[in-house]
Amino acid sequence: MESFHTEVVDSHFIPSLRKPKAQILWIGCSDSGWAETRTLDLLPEEIIVHRSPGDLVSNNDLSTLSTLEYALGILQVTHIVICGHYNCRLVNTHTDSSPLCEWLSDVNAIYNAHKPELDSLPSSTARDRRLVELHVWAQTQVLLARPDIIKAQAERGLQVHGFVYDDAKDECVDLVAGGSCKLTRGIMSLL
Ligand SMILES: [Zn+2]
Repeated sequence: MESFHTEVVDSHFIPSLRKPKAQILWIGCSDSGWAETRTLDLLPEEIIVHRSPGDLVSNNDLSTLSTLEYALGILQVTHIVICGHYNCRLVNTHTDSSPLCEWLSDVNAIYNAHKPELDSLPSSTARDRRLVELHVWAQTQVLLARPDIIKAQAERGLQVHGFVYDDAKDECVDLVAGGSCKLTRGIMSLL
């Protein structure tokens, strides 16, 4: 099974082109109150930003699909970053049937798929941080399974990254494949 660990993102993780050309599609969370894109030392024009509640791509909504089409087909970006953040009040379990909770239903699916691990953590803070990481990782896996992403990887070396922003440290961590944190079998079938 795939697994991941976290590594702090250096400001030069993606080298700047030093010219106003979009090279990154950054998919972030609507309620992120920080300019987390600035953790990379890039010109503003090098990043196109798309935000949704809970940095979700698995809902296949028209806004996200249109942004992906634009970034991949017209801008020809070479990186996609999905960036969640710790202390996210959206990436959490939701129990009612409001539109927001319906939108975030995949978060519940991820929680349920990892319930034994998450419930065994020593505090709600630790549980919430872990859920954010699992959520971002799952969203990257959804992207990596898309035919247009696979095609762009083969044609121009497109890379997909899963980041989590830590506001307490003003830094991002990268979710890197490999490590001791195993994903629960069947996660992809839930998304
Ligand atoms: Zn958020």
